[in-house]
Amino acid sequence: MLKPLPEHMDDTGSYPDPISLVEYPHPALRKRARPVTVFDQRLRGFCARMFAVMEAEKGVGLAAPQVGVPARIFITDHLRRKDAPGAGDPRIWINPRIEQPEGETSYEEGCLSFPGMYSKVMRHNRFVIHWQDVDGAERSQRLDVEAGDFLGIVVQHELDHLDGKLFVDHLSPAQLTLLRRRLREMEADYRKATGKTGAPLRR
Ligand SMILES: [Zn+2]
Repeated sequence: MLKPLPEHMDDTGSYPDPISLVEYPHPALRKRARPVTVFDQRLRGFCARMFAVMEAEKGVGLAAPQVGVPARIFITDHLRRKDAPGAGDPRIWINPRIEQPEGETSYEEGCLSFPGMYSKVMRHNRFVIHWQDVDGAERSQRLDVEAGDFLGIVVQHELDHLDGKLFVDHLSPAQLTLLRRRLREMEADYRKATGKTGAPLRR
């Protein structure tokens, strides 16, 4: 008789170990991630590995698709300190969603999957974010970027990753022109390394 798969297999498959950052134009960055339904030790271990990657890459946010895992998980540390790792405000956001968006604001964003590239992106100014913590408990928080919540920018950027959306998708043609050369270099590097074209920007 066939044994049933372990519970976590219904979810995202097993979480990989080790993990590493994937960069543009890796196709994993364009996949829509699946909800997390199992809150267990494997999930905790995976989140710990994500924090190690984010710390090594000196980021303030990292989404599971950026390490090749299509699960609705991202982590942030918007108060990350170079001198004291772990002393900021490390957070885990699972199955997040934004409600009651109001207003617009912009911020010069970068992305660990696009090293060295930065551009201004329009985002919601105020909203409520709902999510589950690593134990599966429901949480929510109201954020107001112009009132000082930089975290509001970080979570909108990371939430996009869970839907296969990237910060370059928000840019105007003029903004993209400035990044074009670097994008082409990354596409060429990916082709050289893998023999594939990946998922390059079609704009
Ligand atoms: Zn990003």
